[in-house]
Order: sequence, then structure tokens, then C-alpha cells
Amino acid sequence: MRLIKNYINGEFVDSSEGKVFKKYSPLTNEHIADIQEASRSDVDLAVKSARNALSGEWGLLTPDQRVELLYGVADEITNRFEDFVEAEMVDTGQPSHVQRHVFIPRGAANFKVFADVIKNVPAESFMMPTPDGEGALNYSLRVPKGVVGIISPWNAPFLLMTWKVGPALACGNTVIVKPSEETPLTTTLLGEVMSKVGIPDGVFNVVNGFGPESAGEFLTTHPEVDAITFTGETRTGTAIMKAAAEGCRDVSFEMGGKNAGIVFADAEFDKAVDGIFRSAFLNTGQVCLGTERVYVERPIFEKFVQALKEKAESVSYGHPMEQGSNYGPLISKEHQEKVLSYYQKAVDEGATVVTGGGIPDMPGDMANGNWIQPTIWTGLSDDAAVVREEIFGPCCHIMPFDTEAEVIAKANDTEYGLSTTVWTSNLARAHRVAAKIDVGIAWVNSWFLRDLRTAFGGSKQSGIGREGGVHSLEFYTEMRNVCVKL
Ligand code: NAD
Repeated sequence: MRLIKNYINGEFVDSSEGKVFKKYSPLTNEHIADIQEASRSDVDLAVKSARNALSGEWGLLTPDQRVELLYGVADEITNRFEDFVEAEMVDTGQPSHVQRHVFIPRGAANFKVFADVIKNVPAESFMMPTPDGEGALNYSLRVPKGVVGIISPWNAPFLLMTWKVGPALACGNTVIVKPSEETPLTTTLLGEVMSKVGIPDGVFNVVNGFGPESAGEFLTTHPEVDAITFTGETRTGTAIMKAAAEGCRDVSFEMGGKNAGIVFADAEFDKAVDGIFRSAFLNTGQVCLGTERVYVERPIFEKFVQALKEKAESVSYGHPMEQGSNYGPLISKEHQEKVLSYYQKAVDEGATVVTGGGIPDMPGDMANGNWIQPTIWTGLSDDAAVVREEIFGPCCHIMPFDTEAEVIAKANDTEYGLSTTVWTSNLARAHRVAAKIDVGIAWVNSWFLRDLRTAFGGSKQSGIGREGGVHSLEFYTEMRNVCVKL
């Protein structure tokens, strides 16, 4: 049985109140770990340690020295690559190839990319005239924001957590991470890495627990946390924003989506089917950028539905380490129940279930896991619950459309604005449509292709602010103007 501790001021420590909660395997629901739940005083200690670290050895490092340390973090993650892959598989139940080729390497890259950004970012300066003719020089300094609280979700735990820790540390802040209660393993491993490479005590802290009345709330309501960056559900973001209002603390939010995939009749058919298949079903549909609403131009509608159905029915359920398995379970029983309730709602609302709609037969212990079938519906109207609400499962509704204007209006008819994926071979249309969808990221003939230097975030209720490349500096630093009278 694994025992997961909190990492505070450079040490792995138990809960000061002796509280422990259980972690269950998504594959079998077997009890696989005990996690020490951070108390209010543990969180307080973590915040105080982070505050002290700002003015200690960490605060005295030059940017180059910080960059070198962060390169060391990335290299040590790579040295322990198999440990990270294993931990993420245990936590999420998702296939090893996704961890191996996407989530863990991109997580390690988050430390190098933001270290490079910091090394190369210019400061602005302005000479201004003054009445005495001598003038004044203005220049800007980028200073760390201070103590940053990081609240992360379970769907791509390591990638999404390091996406925040990397830039926060590169900019000279100190952090307290509250990973999802479902997926604490890789954040704990990162604590070991920080310790090994010599990141000073208190710079990186981990507190485990839940949201309300637990570590999440203790952290976000702590008055000495200067800024909060959060990835998770929009509802949770609303609660955190209220907490951050006390003390007028800055927030950066990456939240839910109900993303549209748009396939025009002139798209390269097989590539479009593959693209929508990945965007709807990768990670068992637990990707914020995933597609739950698909709009297909009428001439190819029937053919497209049939092709996507065949692909959905070809997934190989199985243990993440099993050769050939490419489809894992949902994260938890609770989430499985939520997704199944939407599967039922779709039927109640009169959907045609093209494929799926239930739980697959799994052998042995895996019969107790959180498995679920990839599911496709057609035949619903724009106001159906499964067309409007984020499900965060492996499912999509496909609807035909006739004109470009109509599909743009449908894609935008949502309170969310995270991403879209548009498939067409008409270049002019590709640019036109991408520009008109109200989202933070619009893919054309691709999906989930990420250049870490670009701005990432959501419009409308999908987010506040942008992170990525130099955009991360907006949140993780304060710009200080120095005005020198000459
Ligand atoms: P969640 O909102 O339930 O939980 C996220 C984190 O917030 C967890 O660590 C949780 O413990 C914590 N939390 C919950 N209530 C809290 C509170 N009151 N105060 C402080 N912390 C609290 O989200 P989830 O179920 O872990 O993740 C799935 C959601 O995340 C989906 O909505 C998905 O779209 C979204 N997501 C968005 C992005 C993005 O980049 N936009 C990326 C991944 C996931």
C-alpha cells in the first residue's frame, strides 16, 4: 500500500490532524493508497514556508541560476521517466503510451520552456522629455508575484500541474500545489525531484486533500497567498473567485468546455474522422479541449457518423500496461455515475444511440472498475442537456448543418469558449471560421497540437487569463516601472 504524504518546507510530512483518505484504482476500485490530508495548520505552515523562501536563498538567485535549477528539474523528471509514467498510470488508469508520449514528456518540457522564456524576455523602456530639458528614463522590472496557490485537476494531472509550477518558479515565485484528491502521485514524485536537484526548501510545497472544508479551501482562503491559478470545473472556479475576492488576489482560471468540432464536406475525410475520434475519445473523453458536439456538413453526414461509429467500436479496453490496449476507465465511480446519468438523459431526450451507451463487459477484477463505452448520439436538438452541458466523458452528439453561418452560430451557442476543431480543405474558409468561433484556441485540420509558446486559455466561462510562453508572465510576475529623473 502506498502512503502519500504532504511535502512542506522540503520535508515529507503526515497530516498534523492524523487524517488519511483512501485512493482507489480506476481499473478495479481496489484500495491502492492512503493519502495524508493536510489540515488548516499544515496549509498554513506550507504558505508560511513559501513566504519565507521568497526572501531566502531562492529570492537571491539570478534568473540564470533559476533557469539552471529548472533545467535540472526537467532532466531529473526524464531520469525518473518510468516512475512518472507508472505513477500517472496508477492514478488515472490511462494507457501507458499516452503517458509516455504526451503527458509526461510535455510535463518535463514545461520546466525548460518557461526557463527559456524568462532568459529571453525583454524589458520595456521609455525616455520622456521633462520641462528642465534633462528628461527621465522609465524602465520596467518584472518581479515575482509572490506566493502562488496552484489547484489542479485529475484528468492530465502531471501535465496540468507542471504547466503552472514551471512558469511560476521560472518567474521566481514560490508555490503550494493542491493536486486533485484523485491523482496525488506525480505531484508527490515532483517533491522528490525538487529535493534531489536542490530547489531550496519552501519553494515547492504540496498539500493533499479535497476542495471545500479541506486543503483546497484552506489554501485559496489563506490571506498570505498572493495569487491563485486553478484548472478545473467552472463551478469550482466560481467558488475560488469568491475566496480570492477577499484581499483582491489575482486569479488565472482554466475551466470547463463544451467544444464544437466542425467538419465541412470538403475535408479530407479519413483525417477528419481520425481527428474527431481523438478529440472525442482520447483519455476516455476526459480532456477539457475534447469535442462533445460535432457538426458535420449534410452531404457527408451519414458516411461520417458510420465511420466514427466503426472507430469508436474498435477501441481496446484494457490494463494500461497491456500490449495493444488503448482505452482506459473513467477516473472514479462518482464520475462514472455522472457520465452514465448523461447517457440515460440522452435516451430520455429521444437521442438515437449510434453506439455505446453503457458499461463494457470486463474480465476479472476489472469488472469493478470505472469502465464505460465510447458513445455517439444523433437526433437531438440544440437545447438537449447532452448538447449543452459539459459531460467530460467519451461521448459526442453529431448534428448535420447546411451553411457556414449556421454552424458558426451553433458552435457559439454555449456559455463556454475553450476550443474548437475545424476540418476543411478550403483555406479561406478555415481562416474565416477559426476567427469567428468564440474560443481561446481554434484548431484547423488538427487537434491538441500545442506549441507551449502560444497563449492558452478559455473565453466566456471557460477561463480567465492566458498562460503559455510570454503570456504566463502576465500572471506570474508584477511589472514594476522605475522612473529615473536625469
Ligand atoms: P474540479 O473543479 O472538481 O476540481 C479541480 C480541483 O479543485 C481539485 O484539486 C479539487 O480538489 C479542487 N477544488 C474543488 N472545490 C474547491 C474549492 N471550493 N476550493 C478550492 N479547491 C477546490 O475539477 P476536476 O473534476 O478535477 O476536473 C475536471 C474539470 O476540469 C472539467 O470541467 C474540465 O473541463 C476542467 N479542465 C479544464 C482545463 C483547461 O485547461 N481549461 C484542463 C483540464 C480540465
